[in-house]
Amino acid sequence: MTTAAKLPAEAAALPADLVQPLLEHAVAGGAPSVEVFAPATGRLVTELPQSSPGDIERAFATARAAQREWARRPVRERAAVLRRFHDIVLAEQDAILDIVQTETGKSRAHAFDEVGDVAVNARYYASVAEKLLATRKPRGVLPFLTQVDVRNRPKGVVAVISPWNYPLALAASDALPALVAGNAVVARPDNQTALTALWAIDAAVRAGLPRGLWQAVLGRGSVIGGEVIGRADYVDYTGSSATGRTIAQQAGELLIGYSLELGGKNPLLVLADADVSRAAKIAIRACFASAGQLCESMERIYVHEAVYDRFVAEFVANVRAIELGAELNYGSDMGSLTFQRQLDTVRAHVDDAVAKGATVLAGGRARPDLGPFFYEPTVLADVRPGMTVYREETFGPVVSIYRVASDEKAIEAANDTAYGLNASVWTKDVRRGREVAARINAGSVNVNEGFIAAWGSADAPSGGLGISGTGRRHGPEGLLKYTDTQTIAVQRVLPIAPLPGMSEELWAKTMTLYFNVMKTLRQK
Ligand code: NAD
Repeated sequence: MTTAAKLPAEAAALPADLVQPLLEHAVAGGAPSVEVFAPATGRLVTELPQSSPGDIERAFATARAAQREWARRPVRERAAVLRRFHDIVLAEQDAILDIVQTETGKSRAHAFDEVGDVAVNARYYASVAEKLLATRKPRGVLPFLTQVDVRNRPKGVVAVISPWNYPLALAASDALPALVAGNAVVARPDNQTALTALWAIDAAVRAGLPRGLWQAVLGRGSVIGGEVIGRADYVDYTGSSATGRTIAQQAGELLIGYSLELGGKNPLLVLADADVSRAAKIAIRACFASAGQLCESMERIYVHEAVYDRFVAEFVANVRAIELGAELNYGSDMGSLTFQRQLDTVRAHVDDAVAKGATVLAGGRARPDLGPFFYEPTVLADVRPGMTVYREETFGPVVSIYRVASDEKAIEAANDTAYGLNASVWTKDVRRGREVAARINAGSVNVNEGFIAAWGSADAPSGGLGISGTGRRHGPEGLLKYTDTQTIAVQRVLPIAPLPGMSEELWAKTMTLYFNVMKTLRQK
């Protein structure tokens, strides 16, 4: 049983003088507003205005005008805004941590992961944008005579449709590379966590971003998603695989580019030679960050039988020591779930597993005494095919633990999923860890870490295989996806055609000779 639980702070809802100026960054009001409640306490956070089709039209018109001006600015100037944004986020972290916690119900430590994510991405893209966006000069068809420039042009207006679980990271860290690449962004944050996204926009404006370049429209995705995507030049979506398919269909119809970061059923492998204590400690964060409402979090643990008993004993002890609470300080380890429907899913998955013979090693209970959506961090054993939790993503604080007879069996089991987002491998032999990692079907694999090593390395792309998505965030890919290349080729002195008086046949022979010489010289 989870110990020493604390009640959430009384004053969880946010002061009106904080909320009101943020709402000014939303182009909304044309549709009836909705009430947003703090998950940890049930208190009203705000009446959130909603966007009508007219509001969305206006947001895109403003964004388009602002983008034309912004794209003409030198990349260095655009990058300077990201650097100042980085400083504001770190300096004002207390304010944004309060908002993130209030809107999501997560613990402060887990909210801080988002501050860190945004700071790392702002610094990274500020540092590399100029180089990534520089015009490239590849070899022309005829050396010296054909001069080629490859430019990276911004797409125009990018729609960033972000969910509620990592509202700062997923709103800001995807918008920053789009902006520095010369685009405007129209954000559609989830209603539940809109204030976090609006705070990020406010901070960016204070960092020098022209007003109107990054705006938010507000509404449920199923209501306004089509209106937003229909006006965008590119769509960046994070959410479930089911909705990802709808977005891909819409983008396909419009022939615009898209990037989808979707769900996961991520495996953690404890190999026979793992540092068991370290694995059992770090796995806590890997499984229960944001109460498991993290696309990268671990829902399946495969442990080699040689270390199974020791790992389970230590892991379960660590899980039982997790303190639940969502007060606005660093006092608790894990917070609340964000919605009733998340709680319903978690309950349904655990209850179904137990009814079909699974064993609860830790947790397994809702905690309405703490707040409406709290659920204990839960470890299940004896999970089998046929139980919902075996294959389906829970997106909550529930992990199933399996004994495996060999490392080979662990790899096989890890790959027995349609998802492929993140994985974790524990071994003292790092070379072997890399080999095992390369055999796992996932966009990221962390050796001796859960998710932060890969995710936090902003220079390395992050994204899913299979139904976990398509496209990448982070790294050069995370910026270049917001651009189109344009090739400008200039032919000088001689045309690429027979010289005057030269027959087509002689031209063909000359060119054949040229192609063969180029190949012999190993030229591109
Ligand atoms: P969801 O797909 O129902 O909703 C996610 C977001 O998409 C919401 O903000 C929603 O308003 C919006 N949306 C829904 N229908 C839409 C439409 N037709 N057009 C545009 N937007 C629409 O998912 P959920 O259940 O709220 O979120 C949890 C899921 O999201 C999980 O599967 C999780 O793995 C995934 N997720 C993935 C990542 C990632 O980076 N890979 C991050 C967070 C969440």
